Amino acid sequence: MERCIYLDHGATTRVDERVLNKMLPYFSINYGNPSSMYFLGRRNKRAIEEARNDVACNIGAKQKEIYFTSCGSESDNLALKGVAYANQYKGKHIITSKIEHPAILNTCNTLEKQGFEITYLNVDKNGLIKLEELNNSIRTDTILISVMFANNEIGTIEPIEQIANIAKMNNVYFHTDAVQAIGNVRIDVQKMGIDLLSMSAHKFYGPKGVGALYVKDGVNFERIQDGGHQEKGKRSGTENVAGIVGLAEAIKYAYREFEFHNKNIIGLRNYFINRLMKMNSDIKINGDLEKRLPGNINVSFPNVDGGELLLKLDEYGICASAGSACSTGESKPSYVLTSIGLTKEETQGTLRFTLGKENTKNEIDFVMKILENTLKL
Ligand SMILES: *Cc1c(COP(=O)(O)O)cnc(C)c1O
Repeated sequence: MERCIYLDHGATTRVDERVLNKMLPYFSINYGNPSSMYFLGRRNKRAIEEARNDVACNIGAKQKEIYFTSCGSESDNLALKGVAYANQYKGKHIITSKIEHPAILNTCNTLEKQGFEITYLNVDKNGLIKLEELNNSIRTDTILISVMFANNEIGTIEPIEQIANIAKMNNVYFHTDAVQAIGNVRIDVQKMGIDLLSMSAHKFYGPKGVGALYVKDGVNFERIQDGGHQEKGKRSGTENVAGIVGLAEAIKYAYREFEFHNKNIIGLRNYFINRLMKMNSDIKINGDLEKRLPGNINVSFPNVDGGELLLKLDEYGICASAGSACSTGESKPSYVLTSIGLTKEETQGTLRFTLGKENTKNEIDFVMKILENTLKL
């Protein structure tokens, strides 16, 4: 087999074998439409409801508060547009941050064109929003705050409980894009005071093309896609049964096992960071070193072209990304890195390595050897 050192778990993950096995019958034996009344349909309807219950239990929600979607991006769209349209009679102001995923930022863009007003919060040099700025941004017509749980490029974990508290005190809904966080951090929506939360299976060893949105019971939101009655009329379309079953199976294992894996992942991450720092004192690690996703290493190399370095790593079967998968291919500097104060030159020399449960110390040693030989810093 070709050599592959996969250090891009922030982009996607490999489907866990156990998850795949659980999904397989839903492509063949269990092919019924969940809306059909006969046994093939009923059986799949039941599988979906069991999956819904599993997802809910793991994040501290109720079964009826989970809606399945086609991806994290759709969950983000449904959360923001769904709340915005349903509550515009109360106000048309939304608060988010400057470092959100494009699924949030571009949705906000669309909402602005439709007459909504958006405040984009700044972040400090570690990528953390400032609670005081959030407090000062709230107006009488604010209906929603959306701040990501953890950033996909630099791994910074935002002060979610404090944000939720501020939202609650001001009677404003709080949504969090937790696509990077689920499966890496323990999340309990009830304890944390979260009203809406987006997740995507392929970021936690589940399949691509399936996501979920948690919406707290009583939150006023409306559908953004017209069609049949699926998902209580909030998300039309025949359900991706195999995907939904896979998402639920993946979140089950994630919650059961992530603390075990994190020990190894954090150890490898710190080892990697220490070796990078020793290589050259001008190498900079971006993002908060404490409030950080376990597997994230976002590193700026001085006077290096990140794109060229990625190609070099690729020659050795090493998969990493330039800042973020979503901005690769574009020559514009990453807005996340710019927001935390990096210069254009620094952003160009920045790579993101995101470790996962299958990575080993040998792999890191090999990557370090290639980096040392290539960069000669
Ligand atoms: C990957 C990602 C998304 C998009 O999820 P998809 O399932 O790929 O659409 C949204 N937000 C964040 C933070 C992500 O990392």
